[in-house]
Formats: sequence, C-alpha cells, structure tokens
Amino acid sequence: MNRVVEIERFEGESSYEITLRPSSWDEYIGQEKIKKNLKVFIEASRRREEALDHILFFGPAGLGKTTIANIIAYEMNANIKTTSAPMIEKSGDLAALLTNIEENDILFIDEIHRMSPAIEEILYSAMEDFRLDIIIGSGPAAQTVKIDLPRFTLIGATTRAGMLSTPLRERFGMHFRMQFYTSSELSIIINQASKKLNKPTVEDASIEIAKRSRGTPRIALRLLKRVRDFAEVEDRDIIELVVTHYALNELGVNDIGFDEQDIKFLELLISAKGKPIGLSTIGATLSEDEGTIEDVIEPYLIANGYIERTARGRIATLKSYEHFRLKSSSKRENPFE
Ligand code: ADP
Repeated sequence: MNRVVEIERFEGESSYEITLRPSSWDEYIGQEKIKKNLKVFIEASRRREEALDHILFFGPAGLGKTTIANIIAYEMNANIKTTSAPMIEKSGDLAALLTNIEENDILFIDEIHRMSPAIEEILYSAMEDFRLDIIIGSGPAAQTVKIDLPRFTLIGATTRAGMLSTPLRERFGMHFRMQFYTSSELSIIINQASKKLNKPTVEDASIEIAKRSRGTPRIALRLLKRVRDFAEVEDRDIIELVVTHYALNELGVNDIGFDEQDIKFLELLISAKGKPIGLSTIGATLSEDEGTIEDVIEPYLIANGYIERTARGRIATLKSYEHFRLKSSSKRENPFE
C-alpha cells in the first residue's frame, strides 16, 4: 500500500532529497547531543591528522543518518562512498569498494544489519586491522590473499540495532541513536526547505506540516512537496495555512500524522481490550509486511507512547484509548470516519 507518510526503504533517493539535503552543521537541525559530540571527535581527529573512528547510527528511516554521514565527510575533508548492505553480495564487491578508497575516506553502509555473515567476517579485519583477508578459490586449492587498506572510517546506519551481531556492533567506536524531531525542529527544516524550493511557508503552515510529520524530516519534506503542489495549482507564491490544511486533509494525514494504516493498527489493538496481539496477526489484518510494521509504523507509535511492545505482543496504551475516545466524540474532525 502506498502511504503518504511512508518512508521508502532501500530505494534510490529522489532528486528533491538530494537538493534539500543540508550540507553543513548549521543547516542540520536538531540531534543536538549527537552534533555536539561529533564536533569534538572530528576536531580531535583532525588535529591528530587521523581517520575518525568507525561510527554507527541507528534509528528509524528518514531521521537524517545519511545526511549526517555526508556532513561528517565534508567536515573531515574526506571523500564519501555510499552503499547499502544488500548491494554487497560477494566478497569481491566489498574488496572493490575498500581497495578504491584513500586514506581517511569514509565508507557509508546503509541497512548494515542486512549484511551477509560471510561479508561481515571480512569486514571485521578491514575495520580492526585495516586489512582484507580474502579467500580465492575453494577446496584444497583455496588461497588467502591479504591486502593492506588505507585507514578509513566506516559509517554504518541501521533501522534495527537489535539485528546487528555483537562482534560487528563492538567494532564501531561510536554509537549514536537518532531521536525523533520535535515539531519546532521540523518546522525549521520545513522553512529552510521551502525557501530552497522558492515557495516560502508562513509560520503556522510550517508548524501544521511539522505536527503531521511523525517526527521525521523525510516525511516533513514529502508533505511539504505535496502541499507546494496544491499551492502551485492555486497560484500562490507562498504556502499559507488554509492551503496546507486542505492539502494535508486531501492526502489523508490526520492532525497528528496518523494515516489510515496507523488508525487500523491502533483500532485493532484497542479492539483486543488489553490483550497483546502478535506481529503476525497484525501483519495479516493490515495486509502489511511484518518488517514494514516494525521499521516504519511502530517506532513512532512506541516513541510517542501510543503502543507498547511486550514479549507476548503489542498492546494499546491509555494514550491511544484517549485519542480514539476524543476522536469519537468529535467525529467530524476525523478524516477517516
Ligand atoms: P536516513 O538516512 O536516516 O534515512 P536521510 O539522511 O536520508 O535519512 O534524511 C532524509 C531527508 O531529510 C534528507 O534528504 C534531508 O534533506 C532531511 N533531513 C534529515 N535530517 C535533517 C536535519 N537534521 N536537518 C535538516 N534536514 C534533515
């Protein structure tokens, strides 16, 4: 199902994301603690003229992991090569990547939890000893080839920290958990982007988009782009609240960023009256892949206290019950009823 608030995974980036992507710390809004720490580590390694330690970012898609990796490369004055784990199928693919990098360069591997165990093994010595041990051939004729690598920095990103093997996780010197963004942070991101798109947004309109963006910059930018289309057709030079309301309601995103799939999910849990529901049942009821439920739908609902994940399944919290009680007493506000 195509969701307006969905975050694509493993897809190529759209060109608007690349043009709107911040290229400096000033434009990278929020994640203050991470920024503060990274600035110190970058400065220290610059002074020592050494490559930065390997870094792992984890958190839901669209929160700025790729963007921050690019800013780090810029700040380190280093080249960055970007790939994602499912694209590294053979040891030769990894060897080709690693033998083509220079001293202090950055290799960014997205979805690093999807790395095959055989490739992961090879990565260990590359990360730790800056050496590639590759076995060529098989059986008695197999040979190990050792290749020395320049000191590089691996930046790994994952939406599922729990799926990363312990040996791999431990080889990263820095671990950072990305946080969901507040509405005021998102509204700054929206303002910044709308200026770049030549369609400035008035303050209350950017706050409105921010509130419905599930704490995620990528969703905020996608909604902004759609709202901009509505403003365009209406011949508006700026994006105002009226057109924003209209566009967002047309798109089926409710006032706290829930779309139809979220509502169905929460209604299912509420109908269970406190009994936990397993992921497979939820998947079957929503006709949704379990991975998408875990990676895309749940993180925001959990982080904002709408559901809880227990050993026996998911349950709705009091906040969910209250949300729906409020909604049922003001039915006209709910675009899904
Ligand atoms: P991830 O790698 O975590 O999936 P991205 O780095 O691709 O997320 O971010 C998605 C988009 O959101 C980017 O193109 C960027 O324009 C925007 N973005 C992400 N984080 C920020 C931020 N902190 N400030 C401004 N824009 C951001």
